[in-house]
Amino acid sequence: MTTVTITFVQGDITRQSADAIVNAANSSLLGGGGVDGAIHRRGGPAILEACRALRASRYGKGLATGQAVATTAGELDARWVIHTVGPVWSASEDRSGLLASCYRESLRVADELGARTVAFPAISTGVYRYPKEDAARIAVETVRGTPTAVEEVRFVLFDEETYEVFARRLG
Ligand code: ADP
Repeated sequence: MTTVTITFVQGDITRQSADAIVNAANSSLLGGGGVDGAIHRRGGPAILEACRALRASRYGKGLATGQAVATTAGELDARWVIHTVGPVWSASEDRSGLLASCYRESLRVADELGARTVAFPAISTGVYRYPKEDAARIAVETVRGTPTAVEEVRFVLFDEETYEVFARRLG
């Protein structure tokens, strides 16, 4: 098992080329805003169809926070989308374990699929309001600490501020 190389870019994750693109989904798996909306828009209806099939079978109640599941990537330049549900940030409860679980479980699914390059957004830092510094630390520490056959993990940061936070940690 070689060590994973971590890279980071600023941009739109739906424009990336990778074996797997990770979606910051919600537990319904039926689409939402942010990255989720962008992935379904650019990836086309095949992704939603696959998500509906998951809801009709193994994931009748949806996908739990911290878990991950793969579907086709539709028209994206990737083989799979790995959907994971980040925690909504809470001031009164430490949910860092759930956020770490998103990265760990996504890498576990990537390994099952045989994905060698995986693009991640900054899970939970949008609508779910996780503080960016904490989210970046958890993301990077978890990827570094998870044994995986994935060769490249690429963080794709949409806005300048999030990019800078990851760059300070990785650059
Ligand atoms: P969550 O509900 O997990 O917070 P969001 O999609 O709202 O998920 O936001 C997660 C992060 O993804 C935020 O930093 C947001 O700016 C970023 N983001 C939004 N659209 C894109 C995109 N097309 N590509 C990459 N990152 C994106």
